[in-house]
Amino acid sequence: MTMPPPFADSTRPIAIRVGNLLDVEAGRPVGPRTLLVRDARIEAVASPGDGAPDDALEIDLSGLTVLPGLIDTHSHLVGEVQTAGVPGTTTSGAQDAFLSVRNARVTLEAGFTTVRDLGTFRAFVDCALRDTINSGELEGPRMLCAGAFITAPWGGGDVVGLAHDITLPADLRFGVVTTPAEVRERVRRLLIGGADLIKCIGTGAVLTRGGVPGAPELSEEEMRAAVDEAANYGAFVAVHAHSDEGARRAIRARARSVEHGSMLNAETVSMLADAGTFLSVDLFDGEWALEHGEAERWPAETMRKLAETMDTGIAAFREAVRRGVRVTYGTDSGVYPHELVAKGLDTFVRCGMTPLQAIGAATTVAAECLGWADRVGSLGVGRFADLVAVDGDPLADVRVLETPAVVVKGGRVALDRRDG
Ligand SMILES: [Zn+2]
Repeated sequence: MTMPPPFADSTRPIAIRVGNLLDVEAGRPVGPRTLLVRDARIEAVASPGDGAPDDALEIDLSGLTVLPGLIDTHSHLVGEVQTAGVPGTTTSGAQDAFLSVRNARVTLEAGFTTVRDLGTFRAFVDCALRDTINSGELEGPRMLCAGAFITAPWGGGDVVGLAHDITLPADLRFGVVTTPAEVRERVRRLLIGGADLIKCIGTGAVLTRGGVPGAPELSEEEMRAAVDEAANYGAFVAVHAHSDEGARRAIRARARSVEHGSMLNAETVSMLADAGTFLSVDLFDGEWALEHGEAERWPAETMRKLAETMDTGIAAFREAVRRGVRVTYGTDSGVYPHELVAKGLDTFVRCGMTPLQAIGAATTVAAECLGWADRVGSLGVGRFADLVAVDGDPLADVRVLETPAVVVKGGRVALDRRDG
């Protein structure tokens, strides 16, 4: 388990002059404010007239609307999606790691200061990326990492598609389990080895060769073993589940979140609402893939499964919003170019959320899902000074978040487009 380190570049306080602060919890802009930052965290939220310390460094965002840095509750920053080949077998671990450097930087520059990274085929490459970002060697968001996928053999998180007599290296099949006892052992190895949370592949996956998206692949007993063992280490479990049966097992097993939920009916959605289970939804990746997949030479089988889960996914999302499920902003980033990571906010609005709800899904609600509400997702005292500044009103049009003018992480400017 790791914590983001304190901001080490400067011991001087920082005064961030904000033109108009969007208070997501209150649901409205509260006007100009000055955020006083020390050691990467917000020490005070002051009125513009209040004096800042004499030695304070200043970041001037006075012409802009400022909101908390965005959070993606379902990213994949490591490597690239290999839809044409078999995942994990066409790039080396070194290539995966180097590709992730760019992915992390563009994700941060797109305004995402925190991500929950939900699995990589080569175990622990995500944790290495997180640790290198935290050491200050690389630009990227704060990361919570799953380390690998807990998956059934030939399940949605296994490497599928090679000939039956090919033996894969252990790090490509780190999370493959066949019993609840194995789940517990693997969960321990992941969490002690550096993962922050556990990702279970509860049902088949759209992008896995031959996989059946709705098919339950882990038993409820196995999910429960993961949740119980992870709880011993203070960690949560996210369960990938497209179908009702997979999601219901996850809800009953007390998973923290159901991922995708693209085939859920109204009854399962109401179970989510009653249990308070978070639903981490990604919709833009499907939209993008249906538009570009053919040109990108995605297999016909993948395109068919995408088409089958898109309309049902939107229907489930609408129902979840209507019933007050705690929906968070997921992306499955990497399916599409990482710089487009904010595009799904507009998809959420087109599919039934208000702009404020969409922003909440990527800030306050997401932070709660991560168990990080005390450090990210809002710009209150004690939180990290992670923010995006935009020219325009995101409550009128969330698309202004697709091109943030300034991104600040831990009180340090990560991107300033105003420089030209
Ligand atoms: Zn995913």
